[in-house]
Amino acid sequence: MGKVIAITNQKGGVGKTTTSINLAASLAKTRRRVMLIDNDPQGNATMGSGVNKQANRVTTYEVLIGLEPIEAARVPVEGGYDLVPANSQLSGAEVELIEIERRERRLRDALENVRAQYDYILIDCPPALNLLTVNALVAAQSVIIPMQCEYYALEGLTALLNTIRKIRDTLNPQLEIEGLLRTMYDPRNNLDNEVSAQLKQHFGDKLYRTVIPRNIRLAEAPSHGKPVIAYDMQSKGAQAYLALAGEMLRRGEEVVAA
Ligand code: ADP
Ligand code: MG
Repeated sequence: MGKVIAITNQKGGVGKTTTSINLAASLAKTRRRVMLIDNDPQGNATMGSGVNKQANRVTTYEVLIGLEPIEAARVPVEGGYDLVPANSQLSGAEVELIEIERRERRLRDALENVRAQYDYILIDCPPALNLLTVNALVAAQSVIIPMQCEYYALEGLTALLNTIRKIRDTLNPQLEIEGLLRTMYDPRNNLDNEVSAQLKQHFGDKLYRTVIPRNIRLAEAPSHGKPVIAYDMQSKGAQAYLALAGEMLRRGEEVVAA
């Protein structure tokens, strides 16, 4: 059964989508079968995977509302994974879901039939703790939290950790933190180092040792509709996401062995 991982942080611009696309592609590169679900009405993971979000296609919206099965929405992309695309229509799902039964479990239910076909199913979340994010947290076994090492980073985490706790107490008792990921990291910046040390103290082993540096190639790749490993394999950004996939896989194996 594939492991479902939500990539989430209610803050915008912290690298959720960049991590979703590039971790999906890096895991696919190691021959894992990967699905990436774009669960953000901005559709950035869709465009960044090389799929036109305006085109008339089945998206996460139809899947959540129950108009189409997820098999009808997925498309194979150049990055080597299957993408379930999204566009601005998805913002309507928030309101429509309120009227629907099992509204927090729509994504979990939708994944039931395809989970066995993948090793990893990643969900790129919107920058909000809304019903779309709740659907991701209920569908997931674990969460990856990308974050920038800013002054208020830890404060911002409190709301997210409370939400995760609440979901664990009610709708999804098995939900775990897969890992915290430092993004756009600059080791020459004192603040990055200070916040980093605090994160290590609070989260211990949950903090990935791999850090994602600020790298222009990572910012350029989406405009070419490609993950960075297909755009510039030698770049620091590409190497960092490949290393992250390696660290994640190793950790998973250690847990299984233990
Ligand atoms: P989120 O999905 O959390 O809103 P994004 O992944 O879209 O964040 O990243 C926000 C912006 O920062 C995007 O323009 C992206 O290309 C850029 N970006 C993300 N990670 C990096 C990085 N490591 N180095 C340089 N630019 C980055
Ligand atoms: Mg995003």
